[in-house]
Amino acid sequence: MLVRYLLPVALFLSCVAHADPVQTAAQVNQWRQSHEQQIVDDFAELLSIPNVASDTVNIRRNAGHISTMLQKAGMNVELLELEDSNPVIFAQRQAPAATRTLMIYIHYDGQPVNPENWASDPWVPVMRTDMVENGGKAVAMKAPFDPNWRIFGRSAGDDKAPIVALQSALLALAETGIEPTVNLKVFMEAEEEAGSPNLRRMLETHKDKLDADLWLFCDGPAHQSRRWQLVYGVRGSYGFDLTVYGPNRPLHSGHYGNWAPNPIMLLTDLIGSMRGTNGHVYVDGFYEQVRPLSDHEQAAIAAAPPMDKLLATDMGIGLPETTDRIELAITRPAMNLRGISSGDVGGQARNAIQPSASASIGLRLVPDQTPEFLRAAIEKHITAQGYHITDNEPTREQRQNYPRLARINWSKSGGYPAYRADFDNPLAVKISAMLDDLSDRTLIQTPTMGGSLPLYIVEDVLSTPILILPVANHDNNQHGANENLRLQNLWDAIEIYAAVLTGL
Ligand SMILES: [Zn+2]
Repeated sequence: MLVRYLLPVALFLSCVAHADPVQTAAQVNQWRQSHEQQIVDDFAELLSIPNVASDTVNIRRNAGHISTMLQKAGMNVELLELEDSNPVIFAQRQAPAATRTLMIYIHYDGQPVNPENWASDPWVPVMRTDMVENGGKAVAMKAPFDPNWRIFGRSAGDDKAPIVALQSALLALAETGIEPTVNLKVFMEAEEEAGSPNLRRMLETHKDKLDADLWLFCDGPAHQSRRWQLVYGVRGSYGFDLTVYGPNRPLHSGHYGNWAPNPIMLLTDLIGSMRGTNGHVYVDGFYEQVRPLSDHEQAAIAAAPPMDKLLATDMGIGLPETTDRIELAITRPAMNLRGISSGDVGGQARNAIQPSASASIGLRLVPDQTPEFLRAAIEKHITAQGYHITDNEPTREQRQNYPRLARINWSKSGGYPAYRADFDNPLAVKISAMLDDLSDRTLIQTPTMGGSLPLYIVEDVLSTPILILPVANHDNNQHGANENLRLQNLWDAIEIYAAVLTGL
């Protein structure tokens, strides 16, 4: 680790065209300290424009506002449009001596809100001294700011923080006379929280503009230890609803119990045959396609600070499903019971045998699994348990012809595979070394995040390697109420972006 803030060196270098990333970060840090009020004001203004993907009027207002922000920071901006899609904000800035092009991906739409659950209006940004859950008090949005204070508002963490951080990094570089060493492109999507339904078409239609040496996805939470982390991949996603059947109408449990099949028992038994309480999936072939972790990936996981005890305490978990650390557990494919339903409990419970029982089951895929392969394996397993599979409500004939019936409805989107970049990719090596130098603590390298993003589409269409550089605090409540961004994470993001732009 290098010492971060060598002020005399930084001042000396302000007249030099190309500074190295550590010195750039030091200078940008100085710039930030004298511009905190402006940065916070810019952020609050951006957060006050509602950004739910279906709200196309306000999405356009965001697009206009962000375009102006990027233009002020020296970028050429255009909106990429498709019929029936929200606009992608595409911006670029050439650097005179650059030999490489970096694409930064950010999304400017946010999750829908339920204002009743929020401590204050999700579209009126508020500064608080801490999380609402920790008794954080509202304070004036006026410098000087404590770096542990947080700004609250929808998309503060997911994913508007990178927008204001990137704008600030570009302004800081311009005002301190440091020239980026890489051509910069920016791709800002406004349908990410709606499942990116037009991403593939958008990439295919505008492919000629989108070539780059690396796509850097700036989304998601940073490590729970608050150390910086570079993430190399995401898991894929797929899922299905499963219903099994008993009698064609509810039956009296006294008159017909022990004789009529109970669908709740059939369902729990079938689920138990597929997945254990240890998380292991017993479906034949479920792990067959899995790409093993490389030595480098295993070493990176072993080097990360263990968070399991803290997380378990924080989440009220007495015993995790596995003795493996969480970073390792999420490199495996998973089957998750999303929900289960039949009959009623408590005061609504009746002494009846229900006609059916349903479960919703989610899958997380890892490289090199395919949704099609897993679907076939799971259906084969269910068939082997004696079930006839249908995708509709069973007919009278089916009930007579098959002793057991299972209705399966796979997610209509067809699911998507995982993505994991190679640790040895030269640009990944360069960026990770740079971030490691820059931080006062060792960088955490994470082979995959547990969640899913359709990164495979970018690889599929553009054949460009992808890395994920999350900047938001892990406890930002993304997707929930009282979403927030901790100021130190914003300050760090500005330095990180400035360093990447001058060090690639
Ligand atoms: Zn996001």
